[in-house]
Amino acid sequence: MKGVWRIVIGLIAGILVGALINALWTDQTWLRLGVTDAAAFKAGKPVPAVIGPDGAPVEPIEPTTLAHALRFAIDANWLMGQGFIRALRFLAVPIVFFSIVAGVASLGDPRKLGRLGGRAVAIYICTSLCAVTIGLIISRLVRPGKIIPEHVRANLMAEGGDQVQLLGGRTDQVKGLGRQILDMIPVNPFDALARADMLQVIVFGLALGLGLTLLPKDRQSAGQSIARGFDTLAEVMGILVRAVMFVAPLAVFCLLTPIVAEMGLGTLRALGAYCLCVIAGLITVIGAVYFPLVFTLGRTNPWRFVKEMMPANLVAFSSSSSNATLAVTMRCLIDRLGVSKRVAGFVCPLGATINMDGTAVYLGIAVAFIAQALGVDLTIGQQLTLVVTVVLASIGSPGIPGGSLVILIVLLQGVGVPAEGIALILGVDRILDMARTVVNVLGDGVTTVIVNRLEPPDSADPADSAPPAASTEARTP
Ligand code: ASP
Repeated sequence: MKGVWRIVIGLIAGILVGALINALWTDQTWLRLGVTDAAAFKAGKPVPAVIGPDGAPVEPIEPTTLAHALRFAIDANWLMGQGFIRALRFLAVPIVFFSIVAGVASLGDPRKLGRLGGRAVAIYICTSLCAVTIGLIISRLVRPGKIIPEHVRANLMAEGGDQVQLLGGRTDQVKGLGRQILDMIPVNPFDALARADMLQVIVFGLALGLGLTLLPKDRQSAGQSIARGFDTLAEVMGILVRAVMFVAPLAVFCLLTPIVAEMGLGTLRALGAYCLCVIAGLITVIGAVYFPLVFTLGRTNPWRFVKEMMPANLVAFSSSSSNATLAVTMRCLIDRLGVSKRVAGFVCPLGATINMDGTAVYLGIAVAFIAQALGVDLTIGQQLTLVVTVVLASIGSPGIPGGSLVILIVLLQGVGVPAEGIALILGVDRILDMARTVVNVLGDGVTTVIVNRLEPPDSADPADSAPPAASTEARTP
């Protein structure tokens, strides 16, 4: 069976098993297994004594062997899922760094680099502008915030209070544009590598790669050997990504089962209109922005593009992290879509950090939804400001699960909507995060394919001359 299908089966099985647990497993089920406090038992903490009606502690019941076996299964499941994410994150920094140094050194001319970067950033900004505009138009047409019943609104606001406070405390971490630009320059490049600060790693890689191209004549052959060394290391990282992807079907299952099992289906139903708006926005971005762009400027069949990006889409969906998916995204573009290593090595990591179209759609709809639900009318001027601020904010949004929630608070404050309103959407955020991360990753792929297409063929690097793989299952699952 092909690798991608194995991951799809892992994903479907994870959703089905999670949904079954969600529907059938209750506190009563735990009680039958001798567990009086499921949360404490799962966390391995001592279960507090139950106080009886007479005020005295009730004789403690012992968890059964089956309960212990289940706890072991839950722990093993968690370990497997998190291990997979860790392995991918561990590979992301070296693969980006080695690819950028090798790629820039092979360009041989700083102007070419400026051209590549300029085109990539221009496409990133245009698609993000389209995405947030689509989000705002949909929420203006459907007005999901007006549909939500009063008692649901009150319940959600009460339930999410603690989490809102926690997020509110982190808003000072959100930087302005000037600070973001300044912070791209690493004070200590090794510290940047150690902290996995992707923009700083990109700047370090660019500087080192450029330096190699500017060596005096008598050092050039040594410089080329070093560049080839980095290229080989990037290749080694690619091999490791493929090895990690071998366990992707099981890992995807392990990641999805607990998420779906703990999902509040009631909340999902109550916020159905809002969720549908976000999903419709994401689909519109793919259909109305990505497909035409990939077809016209990227000269690639959009269906083939989505198909070849499938491993990255599936990992993005299960991990909710474009950073964790980065290594797989690059392998899909290079191995399956035949994009030049040099272009993918530069444009993809840049995109994973600054391009978040899925997040932009979501932020636009979330702000409008919360404003509508709290009875705040956003003027046209405020909505136009939102378009620009969302694009800038999505640049600073980290590619991690829930990375844009803190940004959402800042945006709400910016347009005068009470930030506590974020409590309304927290219950369904994880599932929407999975969907928007897929679009974030696809957007990086679209831009990379286009920039690659626009590069003159004479600047292709020799290592890229392999034909775009028609069927590369053996290389990337
Ligand atoms: N989880 C998203 C990503 O990694 C970011 C977000 O919108 O929260 O791309």
